[in-house]
Amino acid sequence: METMPTYIDLVLPLPVNQNFTYHIPDKYIGKVQVGSRVVVPFGNRKFYTGLIKNIHHNQPEYETKPIEILLDEEPVVNPSMFKLWEWIAGYYLSSEGEVMKAALPSALKLESQTNIMPDTEWEQTEKLSPTEETVLQFIVDQQKCSIQQINSLTKKANAYPYIQSLLKKGAVIIEEKITERYRPKTITHVKVNSRLANETQMQAAFDQLKKSDKQTELLMLLLNQLHYYSNKPLESVSKKELMNKAGCTEAVLKSLEKKDFIETVELTTDRLQNIEASKKNNPLNQYQEKALNEIYAHFENKNVVLLNGVTASGKTEIYLRLAQEQLKAGKQVLYLLPEIALTSQIIERLTNILGSTAGVYHSKFSDAERVEIWNKVAAFLPGTNNQYQLILGARSALFLPFSNLGLIIVDEEHESSFKQFDPAPRYNARDCAVVLAGLHNAKVLMGTATPSFESYLNASSGKYGLVNLSKRHNNVLLPEIVVADLSDAHKRKLMKSHFTPLLFTEMEMALAANEQIILFQNRRGFSPFIQCRSCGYIPKCMHCDVSLTYHKYFNNLQCHYCGYTTQLPGSCSQCGSADVQTKGFGTEKVEDELKIFFPGVKIGRLDFDASRTKQGFQKVIGEFTEGKTRILVGTQMVTKGLDFENVSLVGILNADNLMNYPDFRSYEKAYQLMAQVSGRAGRKSKQGKVIIQTSQPNHPVIKHVIAHNYDIFFNQFISERKLFRYPPWYRLIYLTIKHKNKERAQAAAGQLAKQLRTQLGERVMGPEFHLISRLQQYYQLMIRIKLEKNISPPKAKTTIINAIETIKAFENNSSVIVSIDVDPY
Ligand code: ADP
Ligand code: ZN
Ligand code: ZN
Repeated sequence: METMPTYIDLVLPLPVNQNFTYHIPDKYIGKVQVGSRVVVPFGNRKFYTGLIKNIHHNQPEYETKPIEILLDEEPVVNPSMFKLWEWIAGYYLSSEGEVMKAALPSALKLESQTNIMPDTEWEQTEKLSPTEETVLQFIVDQQKCSIQQINSLTKKANAYPYIQSLLKKGAVIIEEKITERYRPKTITHVKVNSRLANETQMQAAFDQLKKSDKQTELLMLLLNQLHYYSNKPLESVSKKELMNKAGCTEAVLKSLEKKDFIETVELTTDRLQNIEASKKNNPLNQYQEKALNEIYAHFENKNVVLLNGVTASGKTEIYLRLAQEQLKAGKQVLYLLPEIALTSQIIERLTNILGSTAGVYHSKFSDAERVEIWNKVAAFLPGTNNQYQLILGARSALFLPFSNLGLIIVDEEHESSFKQFDPAPRYNARDCAVVLAGLHNAKVLMGTATPSFESYLNASSGKYGLVNLSKRHNNVLLPEIVVADLSDAHKRKLMKSHFTPLLFTEMEMALAANEQIILFQNRRGFSPFIQCRSCGYIPKCMHCDVSLTYHKYFNNLQCHYCGYTTQLPGSCSQCGSADVQTKGFGTEKVEDELKIFFPGVKIGRLDFDASRTKQGFQKVIGEFTEGKTRILVGTQMVTKGLDFENVSLVGILNADNLMNYPDFRSYEKAYQLMAQVSGRAGRKSKQGKVIIQTSQPNHPVIKHVIAHNYDIFFNQFISERKLFRYPPWYRLIYLTIKHKNKERAQAAAGQLAKQLRTQLGERVMGPEFHLISRLQQYYQLMIRIKLEKNISPPKAKTTIINAIETIKAFENNSSVIVSIDVDPY
């Protein structure tokens, strides 16, 4: 007989590049499975949830601890998910534990909630401080409470020191209690007892009930609600609904239950409603039809296809067709979107056609909801009528437990919100999607009107299939784009505040014609900074090396990087002069000025301030869709895939700061932003108009945007990228070195660069201070590594990780923070 494996290797949620080995106690032998979760002790007092990665019988050299609890009888992570995690950890130079943290909803991660209890044996020998007294009294009163509860009592972020000293003095003890937080919500249903299996038995039951009208009535009502005598009766009905209709007391129901005529069952509910499909597909136009056929043709021999379709060409309709075909074939579909806040329009379109076959997954859902969706995806069975066979989600939807993916759609593939910036793993969901699809033999369709240089290079080199869709639906023409020369208008003193005469006139005309307007300004707040006129001083953030932004509504100054706010000073803090001036302009100021220029016209504002709550965002979009607001002023957010019917004019208030941003990708981003925001104009019927205000009217980026010619734009700048060894020809890895002490940060960064150069030579650049040299009190320096494409990040991983570990071991460096970002964009 084969001996049972007795050791397991675990992934633990830690930033270290290794698995941890434990042994299986007798009671769990034969029960553990790869992909199930366990709770294990770690260190002295800690417990973690870990995932079983391997089961084996190779005894390690050290003494192993046993697992404490086996949480799952069935695996929650399947083999292809582990493979995706491994790839992500390898490529993005992070640990599998960090990937696990990003992948699992926190309810599945299970917390070790530390409870504190009074020690009844304790004899007081020393005096306690007043706070210690208060904390102890609280613990005695509660008999048992969590550190969290104590924190809220002391109103301090951390009551640890007091608990610590009480522990030391022996007044309290720790109880390690592990609670599984997620419980699916259940509701009580009522059904006919299986004892009443045929008509004779049912008749007998009614005979027996003759004396009780109420019970007879209730049983009849139940049969009625169940459509009991139809050919498709329901299993059960909700008890609450039944009793609402019945108008009798619970006692009646109880009596029927006692007689074994009916029974009640607890069903886990879907918090999200079941929606019936209510609409049919739109017929595709000839160009969409052609594009769809080309996509199919490419899929014959390519795994990824890039659909380069101009704005409002109807890419969504094509996604839908492809998705529906997969659903019919019994496959799962993942539909990734850059930002889920922007998707209520798409959700509506999808659920109208697909009903509850489609589901949404994103971080704004509560954790319990996320676990429910997780479980539904895990429960997928081909060939049955599945809920959530298609998932519409932001980047984290990548980690759902798919078992049979057929297609991944990546909409707006160029968007930088597919990238996770913090914490590690700093992954790009678009790129992970290609790997995930590979694991399932699935296809990937990327769609955009403004491809990233990465994807377009892949497509033009033949690695991806390329399909162009250059006609808008209904043959609506792409908007006419006109440049308004800012410096000329300034010189001739023709500016109306921030509006050139051209833009202003066009706005008047659009309003007169009852059309809507979108204005784009890539800065929120009122003014990017304020400045003293007499000494030139500009107030900066206390914690970051950035100037503070003036917000008029709050009458304060805010740091857009750390959230620090301070009252607007009445006078200059350096020289005392009262002559302090606002400089530049943000969305809030534009909104203010519009109110003066166009009194009576309702204006909406869409930016980070307005979108902090999902409702706020939905409200602004809703009011604009309904035509309640006539002008929408916004930041980047107005560029993103929104579909409004009545917008005839788009104004880009200042294109200069888009193009002058110091980054190798600034032209690519500037083109994308301008083309996307322009794409909001004239989508449904009449051709729209776009005015770009700039002081560089002859700038090549502007010229290409006007000509709607992405291809020529790409060809002009892709060669520069090669020349200067930038992506997509080379791969970038950024290392950020942080410390509160400036000298320490600089020294460590210098040491790290030197260490790296011994292996990587000239590929290493820097260190130099980050564009924001100080952020949230930490000085930051950057080291940039440019790697040839044939050196994959996993190959460089050991070198880089070793270099970091080496310098961290140097004297005084242990508190230096180093973070790694592969493909930092
Ligand atoms: P894109 O995603 O390419 O920017 P959309 O899919 O949002 O474009 O389509 C733009 C508009 O045209 C939408 O309002 C959509 O409903 C409409 N539309 C696109 N294709 C069709 C079609 N075949 N039939 C009817 N309406 C369509
Ligand atoms: Zn001053
Ligand atoms: Zn700050």
